[in-house]
Amino acid sequence: MAMTDYFEVLDRDGAARIGELRLTEPVTTPARLDDVLVDSGSLWAADHEIPEGDEDSLTILPHRSLPAGTREEVREAFGTEHADAEFPTAAVVASEDPTPQGTDAYILSDASGFVGHGEGFKNAIIGAKDALPADTALILSGAATPRNVALLAYAGVDGVDARLARVKGSQGKYLIGDDAAFLDDLDELPCSCPACQQPRNEFDREDCIDHNVAALDAELRRVRERIRAGRLRDYIEGQARHDNWLTAALREFDSQYQYLETRTPVMRTSELSAATGDTIRRVEIQRYAERVTTRYRNRFDNPLVLVPCSARKPYSDSQSHGQFHDAIGYRGHTVSMTSPIGVVPPELELTYPAQHYDSVVTGRWSEEEKRFVVSVLEGYLDRNDYPRIVAHVPDGGYRDIVDRAVAERDITVEYTVDGHPTDTDSLADLAGALEGELKFSKRERQHNTVKAIADYQFGPAAGDALFGDIEIQTTGRYPKLQVRDSDGDQLATMVPQYGLLAMTLAGGDRWVASDASTKTVDIEGFVPHGSVLAPGVVDASEEIRPGDEVVIEGSAAFAVGRAEMSGPEMVDSTRGVAATVRHVRDK
Ligand SMILES: [Zn+2]
Repeated sequence: MAMTDYFEVLDRDGAARIGELRLTEPVTTPARLDDVLVDSGSLWAADHEIPEGDEDSLTILPHRSLPAGTREEVREAFGTEHADAEFPTAAVVASEDPTPQGTDAYILSDASGFVGHGEGFKNAIIGAKDALPADTALILSGAATPRNVALLAYAGVDGVDARLARVKGSQGKYLIGDDAAFLDDLDELPCSCPACQQPRNEFDREDCIDHNVAALDAELRRVRERIRAGRLRDYIEGQARHDNWLTAALREFDSQYQYLETRTPVMRTSELSAATGDTIRRVEIQRYAERVTTRYRNRFDNPLVLVPCSARKPYSDSQSHGQFHDAIGYRGHTVSMTSPIGVVPPELELTYPAQHYDSVVTGRWSEEEKRFVVSVLEGYLDRNDYPRIVAHVPDGGYRDIVDRAVAERDITVEYTVDGHPTDTDSLADLAGALEGELKFSKRERQHNTVKAIADYQFGPAAGDALFGDIEIQTTGRYPKLQVRDSDGDQLATMVPQYGLLAMTLAGGDRWVASDASTKTVDIEGFVPHGSVLAPGVVDASEEIRPGDEVVIEGSAAFAVGRAEMSGPEMVDSTRGVAATVRHVRDK
């Protein structure tokens, strides 16, 4: 296994990550690395000699920089071997053959050949990421601009240089985050970096080089802040609009669901902005819809009442849903319809991203939004049987969606809105439609909420497997529910901020003993406190995602906690925090 001593991933936002390059002066990535990259020479010119390096810089080991498109036979004939070095190193590899070489970082030699082409870029990055160790830095040289660097980071690139930005500057190309303009065409300088603090007519190509580098640095600062906030995707959806190849690349990556899904946290506390047509395809949205239609199961016997979503989240805090609730009064199972989430059962209204998304409310639905919500509603109705279905939705998009979802099914829907859903007559019709229906109890509501979250979080039927055969008690006030067994021992707590369960040790014991599939981190014979570092991980369930609840088990300890990286990354990594420990017990 490769030992990477000088690079560590500290934070993740999908494939993007915050890392630290541990040089004498540490560098936080994604970063511009011109100042620390030292090229020990190309083998085209120099001998096979191990370079002298030090901890001040990232030494590029001897390499042949083969042009993009070089045939494989030629590539193999020029393969290089690298000895172990005692200082930070980077190896130059071709995207077609990214072989691990035990270095801290890898530079893709043919970046200028694929950056600028959506599909080629996607193939090169995913190929490299799949082949190279997860805890090494991926660097693209001669490819970054202020406009594309956010997408490079989004795809998983950790380091860039300013070579291209300098070349462009020397050619009189003025680069900013949304454009690349000919200097001669600019009447004003739309920037406030030091180089731009002078009259337009005195600004020359040397200044343009300085400006381009400053603009690249500024964009990298923005990108790092976005990653820390878990909001790089929100930015990319707007940023990619400024260049067609970036939009193409964004969509190419969206078509690689597994690459992004493995790396995307299951929960965040930050807002998710649903402002473009691309939002529907992001992992968080697709994953929620997939889990609602394949894991969630309705446990109420009452009629289904479909209602429109509210701008305010969680929905139950909104004025309109308060009015719906007054009319329904626990006699119906109130499920919200929304773009871009699909359908939200009330038990999952807090579950990320159902209470975190902010969408553009215009009352008009695009055909793509409609198709998506129709497909989620169809999946939901196929999985869940209801004695009756009441649709308290207005004409237009909502009603169209319900009509389309039930068109080919033997389902009768009663519509109760005439005009606006909160009109007095509409609300009276809703209350009338439920007359004679029995109310469900608070206990039923709380139990079903806990079980529904378990299904969503741990897999189909996990709610019953974990909490079904014992008389569980829920204490606390929604949404701060605590799950206890019949002896009063606490098993889990519902976390209101993202609507998932956090287990206790007793809950972890039940989870392991149950039929629900367990997400396990196998560790060596030590007792972890605070966190489990990747080198201590022996094995980990492949389906673990960042943020997942996990049990941590070794010969000396049993613990419950939260994954900080995916299962495959835990196994692959030799540095970094694999999981944080909530409760631990000696064996
Ligand atoms: Zn400037």
